[in-house]
Amino acid sequence: MAPITKHYDYLVIGGGSGGLASARRAASRFGVKAAIIEGSGRLGGTCVNVGCVPKKVMWAASDIRKKLEDASNYGMDVGELPKFDWTNFVAKREAYIHRLNGIYERNLVKDGVDYISGWARFSGEPGEKVVEVSLLDGGTAYYTADHILVAVGGYASVPDTIPGAQYGVTSDGFFALTEQPKSVAIVGAGYIAVELAGVFNGLGTETHLFIRYEKFLRQFDPIISDNITATYEKHGVHLHKKSKSFEKVTKLPSGKLLITYEDANGKSEIEVDTLIWAIGRGPNTAGLKVDIPGLKLDKKGYIEVDEFQNTNIPGVYSLGDVIGWAELTPVAIAAGRKLAHRLFGGPEFKDLKLDYTNIPTVVFSHPEAGTVGLTEPEARKKYGDDEIKVYNSKFIGMYYAVFDEQDKKEYTIYKLICAGKEEKVVGLHIVGDASSEILQGFGVAIKMGATKADFDSCVAIHPTSAEELVTLV
Ligand code: FAD
Ligand code: NDP
Repeated sequence: MAPITKHYDYLVIGGGSGGLASARRAASRFGVKAAIIEGSGRLGGTCVNVGCVPKKVMWAASDIRKKLEDASNYGMDVGELPKFDWTNFVAKREAYIHRLNGIYERNLVKDGVDYISGWARFSGEPGEKVVEVSLLDGGTAYYTADHILVAVGGYASVPDTIPGAQYGVTSDGFFALTEQPKSVAIVGAGYIAVELAGVFNGLGTETHLFIRYEKFLRQFDPIISDNITATYEKHGVHLHKKSKSFEKVTKLPSGKLLITYEDANGKSEIEVDTLIWAIGRGPNTAGLKVDIPGLKLDKKGYIEVDEFQNTNIPGVYSLGDVIGWAELTPVAIAAGRKLAHRLFGGPEFKDLKLDYTNIPTVVFSHPEAGTVGLTEPEARKKYGDDEIKVYNSKFIGMYYAVFDEQDKKEYTIYKLICAGKEEKVVGLHIVGDASSEILQGFGVAIKMGATKADFDSCVAIHPTSAEELVTLV
């Protein structure tokens, strides 16, 4: 093997949310000699490049269009709805992402972290911890380190049994669309399927959503899955319920895709411009040669770690999407920072780890939905029916009070789940405008162990929707 190019205190594979946060914290706070290896040629990972950030920008575009539709109810005649210039807007969005990539790179330099641009894998003899990097500008380099963090994230799954499945794209392909499709079919029932369907539908694309059951977002509390499913149908998303695996996808000479499917209404065909698979994600471990250090993976290829992010190999750690626990950006960031403190911060931080309970999370649907803690079925199972008290509220927010168009009024729905005599809040689920902004503060309260009485002791802010959460009876 070629000589080792450099030895580091801390070598991080993957320049996404978790890797960047950990390397920067180690170097800036504790003076650690750290490096990041990133293969894609741009820093920021999934969230910045093909995830949260461009998604939220598209969600905002779609939200503005909805507000324009609402405007006449506020006495503003906006005439015919303006056409959305997808092509130029996408160029603008990508320019913003490009600026962010630059900011991330400058911040790394400022913090004294080396940026190694290339694809990494383990190499050397079995049992060794040598990292080989195929450098993007040519050549190969070899690195060793006292501590190695694997934070390589994940990839979007595509079914491998459907003929023609390859004509579809994933969320990565969604962000590469430079023209707005007139029609789209999305397959999946989780965050991504629901968020992208909301964006397309809001921006005027004919949107077909294929789900395997009667409703989507099934992992969330029923108030979220029931109500967002119903609202999407009301908003004109074509929901194909009880959809079976597609029989085939055929590319037509026109470039359109012909999908042969079966749903609750039987067998049929549909022609669309774009097909998007949003059926979940898997870990980016295939090319890492994890067998060389002997890293343990689970059945699906996720890296196995303990609660301190230790893998089975001493000195090798993992976190973020590649461990498959809670695939969210702030989770990867928090775990990465905590790990840097634990490894390099001295005795004060030797037991520091991320608490993975009560993580607040939102779906950027239309309307938004937010959740923290247990769903009602989970709470009933954990504590028993007798120990659970559920507070519900369903109302039309004041925003809709002056609407002439009755059918455009939308419900806000809140649920608080309390356990035990002291009524500790163990779950909070919200559907309605601004849910993503409302949830964060309540997340703090629940993390602190708030009870129903604590919620009630907080004076309401009026007139808001969120005030309902502190006045529930
Ligand atoms: P990543 O950010 O994926 O970073 C991993 C990095 O490792 C990548 O840059 C990759 O190129 C690099 N890499 C991989 N293999 C190698 C290798 N062998 N050598 C060198 N480099 C390598 N989360 C939220 O909290 N809110 C949201 O709104 C949200 N929206 C999302 C929308 C979409 C469409 C998607 C797909 C995800 C979304 N997520 C969201 C999830 C979020 O993006 C991830 O949880 C987060 O990015 C995980 O961070 P990570 O550091 O584990 O991995
Ligand atoms: P999810 O795991 O959220 O959802 C995928 C869903 O698709 C499954 O739950 C399942 O639902 C359905 N599904 C699975 N296999 C198939 C299949 N073969 N055919 C049809 N449907 C199928 O994955 P996503 O890809 O949506 O998102 C990945 C992760 O990224 C999320 O879990 C989340 O952690 C993160 N993310 C977070 C966001 C946010 O914070 N706002 C936004 C986007 C992503 P069912 O069983 O009901 O069919």
